[in-house]
Amino acid sequence: MITVLTGGTGGAKFVDGLRQIVPPEELTIIVNTGDDLLWWGLRVSPDLDSIAYMLAGKLSPERGWGVKGDTFFCLQTMGQMGQPTWFHAGDRDLATHIFRTKLLADGKTLSEATREIAASLGIKARILPMSDSWVETRVLTPAGDLSFEEYFVQRWYQDPVESVRFAGASDAEPAPGVTEAIRSADVVLLAPSNPVTSIAPILAVPGIREALHESRAHIAAVSPIVGGAAVTGPAGALMAAQGLAVSIAGVAYFYRDFLDLLVVDSQDADAAEDLRKSGVRVHCTPTIMRRNEDRIALAKSTLDAALQPPAAPAAVERT
Ligand code: GDP
Repeated sequence: MITVLTGGTGGAKFVDGLRQIVPPEELTIIVNTGDDLLWWGLRVSPDLDSIAYMLAGKLSPERGWGVKGDTFFCLQTMGQMGQPTWFHAGDRDLATHIFRTKLLADGKTLSEATREIAASLGIKARILPMSDSWVETRVLTPAGDLSFEEYFVQRWYQDPVESVRFAGASDAEPAPGVTEAIRSADVVLLAPSNPVTSIAPILAVPGIREALHESRAHIAAVSPIVGGAAVTGPAGALMAAQGLAVSIAGVAYFYRDFLDLLVVDSQDADAAEDLRKSGVRVHCTPTIMRRNEDRIALAKSTLDAALQPPAAPAAVERT
């Protein structure tokens, strides 16, 4: 059994590789919901949607979010009606948001709504939101206390970041099945997602970090930082704002209390050697997922390395 912790864009590419090599009934994907927002009164869960669209083969490859080949007539019309249009919800994508909002209004939990949406898309792998409670990632900047989507989409992540918090997390509970999926897995994988705004909100839900500590699974993370910078997006700036080094060492430090293995890009071979000297297990392999073959190769290489027993310590000569 394989359990993945993930955000949206980087994570979805990694999950795409995994889904091609792991039977769906062996795959559980625990998804960040700290980016969730109410948009035109609709409940939008951007990371859950990216993962669901990816598993259904519907994710737009050009944009990395939303539905392939979608149109934007509703967005255009809402703009003509004087409504905000900075969050780009396509027409087909809107159907998901309307369906989720309806299910929640009918009294379903986010987990139940997610299950119904996944079933309607023909998805067999298990997708779990990190929590059924509202947890909101808030980014404090000189321009104000912003939601993640305001910071990321509306303002193009240009504001200097003072701090990040997860409003509501301390009162939240993991969604049903989340801690069990971590505890009973053979392997837990942290996707190459933004550590601060995709993985940290999941870890902030009480009980999830403890499940990682207590799990007997091999726990491996793929670094979203390559060559001292994020592959895409603001992960570097956000890590720096947390006082972390923007490097594979910074990623290893962030996950240090439960991580068994860090998977890093071949470009970081020298930094990997330094990290090994400090006692961290590191696996070097190409991690940039441009083509489908890259995604499959990274998924295979990560799983193989995670399942390998750690090298025995060098024998100490007797005197
Ligand atoms: P979000 O929720 O949409 O922000 O998506 P994620 O957090 O899942 O993904 C964003 C992260 O993925 C960024 O930190 C990127 O550096 C990382 N990322 C994106 N593409 C790749 C890739 O091809 N390889 C690796 N190693 N990281 C990637």
